[in-house]
Amino acid sequence: MKLIILGEPGAGKGTQAEILSQKFNIPTISTGEIIRNAIRQGTALGNEAKQYIDRGLLVPDSVVIDIIKDRLHEDDCKNGFILDGFPRTVPQADALTKMGITIDKVLSLEVPEEKIIQRISGRRQCNECGATYHVIYKPPKQENKCDVCGGELIMRKDDAPETVKNRLRVYHEQTEPLKDYYKNKDLLVVAYGQEEVKDTTKEVFKALGVEDYDYN
Ligand code: ADP
Ligand code: ZN
Repeated sequence: MKLIILGEPGAGKGTQAEILSQKFNIPTISTGEIIRNAIRQGTALGNEAKQYIDRGLLVPDSVVIDIIKDRLHEDDCKNGFILDGFPRTVPQADALTKMGITIDKVLSLEVPEEKIIQRISGRRQCNECGATYHVIYKPPKQENKCDVCGGELIMRKDDAPETVKNRLRVYHEQTEPLKDYYKNKDLLVVAYGQEEVKDTTKEVFKALGVEDYDYN
C-alpha cells in the first residue's frame, strides 16, 4: 500500500498515519519530522531548512524531493509506505511520478479551520526525541516532561499563532490544488476528522475501504 495523506497543518495527519502504519506494517514518512530531526542535529540540511520552516514557509522543492528520493530507496519501503506531508506542491507530486512510484490512494483528512487553530495551540513536542503530545488530547504523564525520554516539552516554533496563519495560507495556495490533481487521477478519497482520534480512524478506514479493524 502506497498512501499519501493530505490535510491542513494540525488536521491530525501524523496521528492517523501512525495508526495506519501499524495496521499495514509499513513506515510513515513525514518530511516535517525528517526536517525537524535535521534541525535538532544541526546538519547542513537542517540549517538551510530552518529559515523556511520557522516562518511557516515551504522548504524548496528540490530539497524535499532529494530527501524523499533517498528515503523511499531504503529497505523498509519495499512493501509500501505512508507519506505524511509530501507532496505539498504540484512539482513535488510530479517528482513522485518521475521516480516511477505508483500511488494507490490519496487520503484527504478534512477538519474545520477553527478546530485546527485550537488543536495546534495545544501541541507540544519533546525537545530531545521528537515525541508529540497535546495538553488536552494527549497529555504527558508528568507536566512538560516526555514520557519516552524525560526530555523537556516545548511548542514548535512554527506552531506560534502568526506562523500558523502563514502555514494555512501556504496550504491553500500550494497544497490544496493537489486534491484536484489526484481527483483527476481517480486516487482521492476523503475522510472527515472527528472529536476523538478513534472516531477519525473509523472514518479513515471507511474512506480507504478497510473493514476489519478493532477501533478500540
Ligand atoms: P504540518 O502538517 O502540521 O504543517 P509538518 O511537520 O508536516 O507539519 O511540516 C512542517 C513544516 O515543514 C512545513 O511548514 C514546511 O516548512 C516543512 N515541510 C514539510 N514537508 C514539506 C514539503 N513536502 N515541502 C516543503 N516543505 C515541507
Ligand atoms: Zn522525548
